[in-house]
Amino acid sequence: MKKLAIGIDLGGTNLKGIVLGSDGERRHLTRIPTQAEKGGQQVLKNLLSLIGVLIEKSGDKDSVIGVGIGTPGFIDSDGTILGGAENLPGWRGTQVFEPIMEQHGLRATGGNDVTVAALAELKFGAGKGVNNLVCFALGTGVGGGIVINGKVYKGTHGMAGEVGHISVETDGLQCSCGQKGCVEMYASATGIVRLARYFAAGEDSPLAQIAKTDPDAVTSKLVYGHVAKNDSLALKVHHKATQMLGKAVGITINTLSPDRVVLGGGVMMAGDVILEAVKKYAARHCWPEIFEQCTIVPAQLSEDAGVLGAASMAFDEFQ
Ligand SMILES: [Zn+2]
Repeated sequence: MKKLAIGIDLGGTNLKGIVLGSDGERRHLTRIPTQAEKGGQQVLKNLLSLIGVLIEKSGDKDSVIGVGIGTPGFIDSDGTILGGAENLPGWRGTQVFEPIMEQHGLRATGGNDVTVAALAELKFGAGKGVNNLVCFALGTGVGGGIVINGKVYKGTHGMAGEVGHISVETDGLQCSCGQKGCVEMYASATGIVRLARYFAAGEDSPLAQIAKTDPDAVTSKLVYGHVAKNDSLALKVHHKATQMLGKAVGITINTLSPDRVVLGGGVMMAGDVILEAVKKYAARHCWPEIFEQCTIVPAQLSEDAGVLGAASMAFDEFQ
């Protein structure tokens, strides 16, 4: 008989959920506001109510084997949020799995949002057909997720995969994690904007003019729009960001020897120009024999990666 799993993607703005069939059928994609500003307990209440709605919509509670949750930050194996979710005030310390069992009688599992997205890419997207994959998500920060032998690798306390905090520059920029020179400081959307403002002083290009007169107008999208026009500042930023990212990707490939490295997140809207530069720089930080066995590709799933990966995680653990 076909089994069902519920997948939840917890975002700062919306809570998204899906009912996924064991055959890959996607049903009842639903979203409700997270109401993050009302605190952790309200977010939990909304999460429980969304699960209730999805059970109802499935029309077949007995076939639902469990719930998977993708959350910002870290979640440990018993379902306690350990931190790292700055966009959800009061979410840290919240116990998530027990209330799901109490209220809905379902087992739950979970992982960091990029970790579950990595699993989704392996099952349905850029990693279809391979066993070992690492995701770099270039957004406000740089998130990461690792899948080994087809299963999410969570590490000892559910905190594995923080590739964004690989330190790529000795005595580099100070990161919020306490280290210096984390790749997130250079290759995230925020990092790219920071580099553009920093390098603008020594440049006289159209982008430099904008960065000097209206620094708030600089976005990673604007920078990459100017890369396409060969703007000297934009190119300088692009080289620095992709050198740093390439180094982190190369270190990761050397360490794990994955089949695929998947680059996703908003910054990757710029596409091939980033991909090609990262391939070039990653090769310099990796054994050639290991590098040759790995392909670096763009993510294929955008919006739905979180819910699909979360539900897939429930199948992996409870089926
Ligand atoms: Zn860091």
